Parts: sequence; C-alpha cells; structure tokens
Amino acid sequence: MTTSGTCPRTGTAPWSTPWRPGWTCATTGRWPGWTSRREAWPSRRSRGRRRPARTSWSRSPLGALKNDVPRFVPPLPPERTGAVHRLGFGRYEKVALAFDEAFWRRAGWSHLVLFPPEATEPAAWVFDLDAFGAGPVLVCHTFHSATGHLAGAPPAAAASRVTDMLSAALGAPCPEPVAVAVTGWAEDPYTSGAYTHVPPGSSNADPDLLGTPVAGRLLFAGEHTQSARLGYADGAMTSGVREAKRLLGTSTVALGRLTDRA
Ligand SMILES: Cc1cc2nc3c(=O)[nH]c(=O)nc-3n(C[C@H](O)[C@H](O)[C@H](O)COP(=O)(O)OP(=O)(O)OC[C@H]3O[C@@H](n4cnc5c(N)ncnc54)[C@H](O)[C@@H]3O)c2cc1C
Repeated sequence: MTTSGTCPRTGTAPWSTPWRPGWTCATTGRWPGWTSRREAWPSRRSRGRRRPARTSWSRSPLGALKNDVPRFVPPLPPERTGAVHRLGFGRYEKVALAFDEAFWRRAGWSHLVLFPPEATEPAAWVFDLDAFGAGPVLVCHTFHSATGHLAGAPPAAAASRVTDMLSAALGAPCPEPVAVAVTGWAEDPYTSGAYTHVPPGSSNADPDLLGTPVAGRLLFAGEHTQSARLGYADGAMTSGVREAKRLLGTSTVALGRLTDRA
C-alpha cells in the first residue's frame, strides 16, 4: 500500500508545515503507521479544532521503507534513503508441520539441522515442538536465499520440500503432515522481510542515522534505527523508548502494560 499525506488546507506535508497555534487543519496523525503527538495529547486551547501534527513518528520496518511504504511527501533526504537502500533486510520464514504422531522421536531424533541438496544453500533448522510438550509438530526455520523456494508457493509445496529433506535425513519416507502453516513475512507489504543486516558497503553508521529525526519533527523507531541490537526485538523496543523520550522531552518514560491503556 502506498500512502501519501498532505494537509488538505496547505497542501504540504506535516513536517514541512510550521506549527501555528489556532490553525484549523486536518491532522495527519491518522496515517497508517504514524502517531501524532497532537492527536495523542490534544491541546486544551484547540477547542475542538484540529491542528496540523507538529511531530510525527514512523516505525515502519526497513523492508517497507525500501519499498516506499509509506511514501513520504516530500521525499526523505537523500542521505536517509541512501542508508535505507545500503542496509540489507534479510528473509526468515517458518514452515510448521503437524503430524499424527512424533515419528522422529521413535527414531531417537529431536531437533535437526537439515542441509539442502544444493550445496550453496543454507541449512534449515528444524525445531521439535514435541520436545517442549507442544505435540507432534516440527517447525522448519528457513533463511534468506532458501526462502525463495517458499515465496508464493502453496503450503503443500513448502511442506513437500521439508518432508523431502526429512525423508532423506531419516532414510525413510516421512509421513504426510495433517496440517501445515507457512509464514510469509517477505510478501507482507508492511514488513517485506525479517530483519536488518549490515552488508559490505554499509556500516553501523547507517542504522544510527536512521534513528535520528528529520527536520527535528519526523521521528523514527524500529530495530533498523539503532546499531546496538540490530535485528532484535529488544533493539526495537529500546528505539521506541528513545523516541518516546525525545517526543516528550523527558529523560525517562514509564512503561505500562498494553491492557492498562484500555
Ligand atoms: C521469523 C522471525 C523470527 C525472529 N526471531 C527473533 C528472536 O528470536 N529474537 C529477537 O530478538 N528477534 C527476532 N526476530 C526479529 C524481531 O521480530 C524484530 O527485530 C522486531 O519485531 C522488529 O520490531 P519493529 O518494531 O522494528 O518492527 P515490527 O515488529 O515489524 O513492527 C512494525 C509494525 O508496523 C506495522 N506497519 C508497517 N507499516 C505500516 C503502515 N504503513 N501502517 C500501519 N502499520 C504498519 C507492521 O505491520 C508491524 O506490525 C525475528 C523475526 C522474524 C521474522
């Protein structure tokens, strides 16, 4: 999906619109993926009038930004889009197979690392969920180039690829799974992959740059906006805390449970 957002009154983007108290103008705070400070904490002086967002916040993943989702009008500065395109956004998908019984356990097997027939392809990790008491389920973790075999393929085809590898590893035909689930993070336009990495030609300065505001009022969070814990959920959370402090102008923020806000 492509979104562009200009103020209907001024025809300008929110971060290029000077903040002028008293303006009546549709806030851009309801853009998908955006949070507006003004919308979250409306000013008393607004008396019901809507004002342009003074500060906006994007936490779109790097993969979406690479695909111009959301579209920024005016465009982001070239040094910023350069960093977006220099960084890599890897793929990581899972194929979950449920069976009638944990046949691999009878053979004395549990978690597996499967090497595909193609020597150039990465190994797949197979997690035995039965070992965790979750029933006769195997989850095959598939990385980057190997995910090409799953892209756009029906679940049955993805399952066959995994059961073929299992049959080869076990030296016996693998039973047909009774249920299959396949993730599709790379096909999701709001994610377009799994997580950021720093390929040759890029450096940790790129994600750090992506964590700085544009024009002092367009803020960015997400795992790709910091280099300390690139690719990890805790890096994403830390970046959100960082931007919340910046937005509120405070040195600390209190974290609550989501249910507390209901
Ligand atoms: C298969 C897999 C396994 C992983 N395992 C681990 C692990 O074990 N440990 C770990 O630390 N990390 C793991 N990660 C990485 C971790 O999930 C990410 O680093 C983390 O979720 C990134 O958080 P984020 O907030 O930056 O982005 P996301 O979690 O992707 O959140 C961004 C959100 O914004 C939404 N969005 C995007 N664009 C728009 C829009 N225009 N409008 C509205 N909504 C929008 C997206 O739908 C999404 O919900 C894994 C990732 C994958 C794919």
